[in-house]
Amino acid sequence: MDLLLEVEKEINQLTQDVTNCKKCELWKTRKNPVVGNGALNAQVMFIGEAPGYHENMQGIPFVGRAGEVFDELLKSIGLEREEVYVCNILKCRPPDNRNPFDLEIKACTSYLDRQITAIKPKVIGTLGNFATSYVLEKFGLQTEKIGKIHGKTFHIKNLLFDARIIPLYHPAAATYNPNMESVLMEDFKAIAMQL
Ligand code: URA
Ligand code: SF4
Repeated sequence: MDLLLEVEKEINQLTQDVTNCKKCELWKTRKNPVVGNGALNAQVMFIGEAPGYHENMQGIPFVGRAGEVFDELLKSIGLEREEVYVCNILKCRPPDNRNPFDLEIKACTSYLDRQITAIKPKVIGTLGNFATSYVLEKFGLQTEKIGKIHGKTFHIKNLLFDARIIPLYHPAAATYNPNMESVLMEDFKAIAMQL
């Protein structure tokens, strides 16, 4: 079967599974789950933390203020939203945008694992501490605070993957710290270098 069709089938199944999911308490307070969106043959996957207010309302990742910053950063390296794949560690919004609990991350990340396996990105940009720790540890790498490893490139290679992980500050950081956008812009160049 066509490879892209296989991916589409798996992502459709995943969307159904997430929509029916009650593995943690967050399903009770969500309006819409936010599975992820973008190109199924994307070379670059971005992983954020969790849906915020606007994402929960619309069911689409990074459509609020952080999303505007994110879109600008993409544009700065010549990428469009439609050509990358974007998702989050948690698929449902934590009330008041509080940090994800460990139990929620444990319950939810099988969905993210399936997305990584299906899309097989060449580059994974992890946005913020939660996505960075989860992805580095998943691939057996030691994690560090984002302040220490942002913009670095980690190469992972095993039977299933040959990819680069690039930890990035969360774009929301640039909405309350104006200096952060130039740091992010510099770090995004590391992604462009892999393409
Ligand atoms: N912040 C995130 O981490 N993810 C989103 O989808 C939106 C804001
Ligand atoms: Fe399920 Fe994840 Fe939503 Fe929790 S956050 S209910 S684990 S989809």
